[in-house]
Amino acid sequence: MKINIYRGTKEIGGNCIELTANNGKVLWIDIGAPLDLTNPDISYTKKRVDALLISHPHQDHYGLMENVDKSIPVYIGGVSLDLIRATKIFLGKPMPTNIFMVLEPWDGKTIADTFKVCPYLMDHSSPEAFAFLIEADGKRVFYTGDFRSTGWKRKLYYKLLKEPPAKIDLLLTEGTMVERSSQAYPTEKSVQEAINKVIREQQNVTFVVSSAQNIDRLVSVVKACNTNKKKLVIDVYNAWVLDMVKKKAPNLPTIDWDNILVYNHPHQLEKIAGVEYTSFRERIAKNDIGNKVFGSPAEFVYFLRCPNTKLVKDLLHNGTINLIYSQWKGYLEEGHKTYCAETIQELADSKEVAFQHIHTSGHATLFDLKRMAKAMDPKKIVPIHTENPVKIQQEFVKAGFTNVELWDDGIEYQL
Ligand SMILES: [Zn+2]
Ligand SMILES: [Zn+2]
Repeated sequence: MKINIYRGTKEIGGNCIELTANNGKVLWIDIGAPLDLTNPDISYTKKRVDALLISHPHQDHYGLMENVDKSIPVYIGGVSLDLIRATKIFLGKPMPTNIFMVLEPWDGKTIADTFKVCPYLMDHSSPEAFAFLIEADGKRVFYTGDFRSTGWKRKLYYKLLKEPPAKIDLLLTEGTMVERSSQAYPTEKSVQEAINKVIREQQNVTFVVSSAQNIDRLVSVVKACNTNKKKLVIDVYNAWVLDMVKKKAPNLPTIDWDNILVYNHPHQLEKIAGVEYTSFRERIAKNDIGNKVFGSPAEFVYFLRCPNTKLVKDLLHNGTINLIYSQWKGYLEEGHKTYCAETIQELADSKEVAFQHIHTSGHATLFDLKRMAKAMDPKKIVPIHTENPVKIQQEFVKAGFTNVELWDDGIEYQL
């Protein structure tokens, strides 16, 4: 088998790995959008291959999926596909027209009559993230995708430690955290506890800014709300996302729960005007917060992407508003700024707003990377999805590993 990493040996973003079997069949793992534009070349996406695997619905893993030839089958988890479609619905963009083949966790498939693929469900900030065990030509490759050991699905990490796949020839491991400093909040539980403390004392509303698809974070906020008898308010898009994930996770909250309400935004309602959304729209109407927040703002916690400045202004006279920034702080800084960064910064600088950064990463620490590699005991380890592979190699050497290789983008290696 030959392996070529098109992108990702020295960057976080744009993950794309190509496996070529001895019979000439070609399988891609992920086809992410680059997060920075240092290397703008994405011409490889036009290549004709036999199949594409997508690990999870984050842009840096599927962002260029629609560039590929539409006759190439795309293997992806059902929740991941629903979440990609949800993004399209609420951005008002057409659905992807790829041919999708749905993967179930732990259910092995032979792809292109050549590659035996088994998806491993992992703990990550995306509700369904796969690692892949891939076998061809008598060689076994394990691709971790993005993962951690500190979320509400951490059992999955410990399951992997306890029952690691045997006889791995190559471990392609993510290494995001090597350059991201140690965290004030190491686990989702510690995030829940910190949010709990903030909302326990709240005199006015609390806004929690995070991704609608970070279901672990939403669960942390729901738990904190339950402890303090607060009501959680989400937007229409988030309500839809919860419905999609609940298909596979029946214990998840939805807007039908007593303590969850929705705030309507005309732009979001426009996107679900079609007849196929009738019953969803009825549930939205039934659970609409309306003007209730103005009667007793201290009862409510908003989970959203960007606080509405008019709403903030209208509520300010009730006392200090809490603003919890609950995603990677890099999104507020030059280089990775998101669309709401200016609004958040303005609110954070305001005297009437108490700003806090309460977040834990979706990625594994060096300790967890080493522990997993030790359990798996592969012949060879190659770091990807990292800005500093050299440091990963050094840290692994310190821990006694002698089998970490550093590869370059766009070079074909023989396994
Ligand atoms: Zn990633
Ligand atoms: Zn991810």
